[in-house]
Amino acid sequence: MLKEYQLLLATANKNKSENKKFLEKLKKQRPKNLDQTVNLLNNQAFEEIDCLQCANCCKTTGPLLLNKDIDRLAKEVKLRPAIFAEKYLKIDEDQDYVFQQMPCVFLGSDHYCSVYNARPNACREYPHTQQKDQLQKLKITYENSLICPAVAKVVEALKVEYR
Ligand code: SF4
Ligand code: SF4
Repeated sequence: MLKEYQLLLATANKNKSENKKFLEKLKKQRPKNLDQTVNLLNNQAFEEIDCLQCANCCKTTGPLLLNKDIDRLAKEVKLRPAIFAEKYLKIDEDQDYVFQQMPCVFLGSDHYCSVYNARPNACREYPHTQQKDQLQKLKITYENSLICPAVAKVVEALKVEYR
């Protein structure tokens, strides 16, 4: 990961408790334009941050896989879904399917995903700051600010916007 991305994560880690309190307060305040603001800050962050120079989500945080994800991925790698699950997946403490190991086995050394077109929906949706209903996602945004440098940037910018 680029040094500047590491610095963003180090700052998010240093400001952990401040950021947590800020996002909890923001949730109570329910700002009307929150989706619009977070989506804009997300776009600005990803204009500067290149996932191919990072891949931290694929290295550290596995997605949850639904049956349709498993069927699609199994087809992509030409395995039967049951065999795919046996080879690559395990069931976590919430009884959800997740990858057996991290970094993800489909992540290349060049940070490309070898199953990109068939990747799980959770991978497509990460880090969620591009979606609607941000009020309900502030907790996950806090957690992702410790993993994703783009989200760390979004949270710092949110503090400026709403303080
Ligand atoms: S989504 Fe975030 S953590 Fe994942 S590769 Fe992109 S910048 Fe890194
Ligand atoms: S399936 Fe692809 S996008 Fe999802 S964690 Fe693995 S490498 Fe990353």
